[in-house]
Amino acid sequence: MNNHMRLECEAISENEIFARNAVALFVLPLEPDLTELSDIKTAVSEAVTNCIVHAYGGQGGTIAIECSLEERTIHIKIADNGKGIADVEEAMQPFFTTLPGEERSGMGFTIMQTFMSDFKVESVLGKGTTVFMSKTIGAGKKENA
Ligand code: ATP
Ligand code: MG
Repeated sequence: MNNHMRLECEAISENEIFARNAVALFVLPLEPDLTELSDIKTAVSEAVTNCIVHAYGGQGGTIAIECSLEERTIHIKIADNGKGIADVEEAMQPFFTTLPGEERSGMGFTIMQTFMSDFKVESVLGKGTTVFMSKTIGAGKKENA
């Protein structure tokens, strides 16, 4: 099945729930199982939370979310126009965080990487960050192997 959608929302914590459920509803036609759905929702939450707390420092801004379905795969792009990341490779290391005193554990990127089939981050300092991730639904099932 092929489909696409695009949405923009304010970078506020209320929209973390909105964004993860919007993406979950969009992927439903691919009939994900509960684990796949939960993996996608968690990954979207992590990316959106990063936009809210890191990109815009809790001051609000715009988060752009684009999704497409290509056969059994969902591709998700989550972009902000915030402060950007100086060293993406370093930021992606487990437990690396620039906000250690604020209950951040530095595991967001690691979680996204683990829960999704494909994961990539592009960032320009002072311009913003885009996370690209994909997941193939039913990839673990025998009949689809
Ligand atoms: P956790 O996700 O466990 O609460 P965290 O957000 O610090 O902690 P990651 O999500 O892995 O951990 O992100 C690692 C670091 O990358 C962040 O501490 C931050 O410095 C940077 N970062 C991540 N996303 C963005 C973003 N959208 N804009 C700017 N910096 C970001
Ligand atoms: Mg994070």
